[in-house]
Amino acid sequence: MAATLDKLLKEGCSQHYDEETNRQILVVNLFSLVGISLTLSLGIVALVGKNYPLAFSLLTASFLFIVSRKIQSIFSNSVGRLLAMYLLTGCLMALMSFLVVTGGRANTGPLWIYIVPPVAMFFGGFRRGLGVMAGFTLLIVILLFFPDDYLLLTHYSYEFKTRLIYSFLTVTFLSAFYEYSRQKTYETAKELSRQFKQQALHDPLTHLPNRRGIQQQIEQELSRMTRHGRPISIVIVDVDHFKNINDTYGHDNGDVVLTKISEIFRKWIRRQDSVGRWGGEEFIFVLPETPETNGKLLADKVRSALEGTFINIQGNDIQVTASFGVCEINKEITLDRALRQADKALYQAKKEGRNCVVAANACDD
Ligand code: GH3
Ligand code: MG
Ligand code: MG
Repeated sequence: MAATLDKLLKEGCSQHYDEETNRQILVVNLFSLVGISLTLSLGIVALVGKNYPLAFSLLTASFLFIVSRKIQSIFSNSVGRLLAMYLLTGCLMALMSFLVVTGGRANTGPLWIYIVPPVAMFFGGFRRGLGVMAGFTLLIVILLFFPDDYLLLTHYSYEFKTRLIYSFLTVTFLSAFYEYSRQKTYETAKELSRQFKQQALHDPLTHLPNRRGIQQQIEQELSRMTRHGRPISIVIVDVDHFKNINDTYGHDNGDVVLTKISEIFRKWIRRQDSVGRWGGEEFIFVLPETPETNGKLLADKVRSALEGTFINIQGNDIQVTASFGVCEINKEITLDRALRQADKALYQAKKEGRNCVVAANACDD
């Protein structure tokens, strides 16, 4: 029973949608289910009691609730959801106006109008909900206060009408306030989550993706590679004699140098490439759709750009160089193996005198 209800409520929800969209789908499902059961049972009671106009409107509403639910599940896109929401709200308002005009059973009809504000806010959000509520309130006021009860098929006392409108406005205000706070809280939570994600995946000093961030990008590239089959090259870069820079100019200036280096790298790689901080004074380039030979050429271009750019620290123009190890990832060479091979190539570059690029070539272990 609980499982069936859960399934009915979550029908149309998807993990691919954001939280807000799933909430809207759930609210439409919940509202149409409650609406169907209420209007259907009250409609049958009205039918048995031979109150045909009431029975007809309740059963029509019930039918429209079913239709809106179907619309949402058939057109599983934003247009379908909007259509379902408008149909539900419109149908609800028409039913409420009918109850106000006729008085429903023993003049209790107007009691149901309090459903409208929370539903309009749930469906439309704060702004749209407020607009809908302004229109609906105006309609109810006109129906109730038109001279000589001209638009009513029943009679309400003046006190009843005014109290009804006051209390209705209070509920509208509370619902709008609740929706406004809910939306603000949701936006704050979303922004915080975006910031946490950004912090978790980026290096605070250089603002480049950190090891975890770049690993995520490599994963994405790997899944693209399995589709198109073209290799990816990775390049591990280690700044030469960085300890000397720290020792000479201090750790803070060392940080400045690392930031400047990251800017040079960002400038010289291609648009489709990524650069990340692999750790300490090590960086990594991810070069999609690039075989190792091309990766080596690109790494050499960046190497020479770094060598040729003087970095100003405390009035001194200092020249910084780095060593580069390149390896290709393809169907035969996995990411782990390519990283080991690039590291090995980098070690070789250090051995060969630094400020150079070494490719892992065959990448044999
Ligand atoms: P090699 O050419 O062999 O790579 O020499 P190196 O001096 O660069 O290598 P080593 O591994 O001996 O030293 C790396 C230095 O990088 C030591 C460490 O303090 C410094 N370092 C690592 N991370 C940071 C950082 O975030 N900021 C600063 N200023 N220094 C860092
Ligand atoms: Mg190092
Ligand atoms: Mg180093």
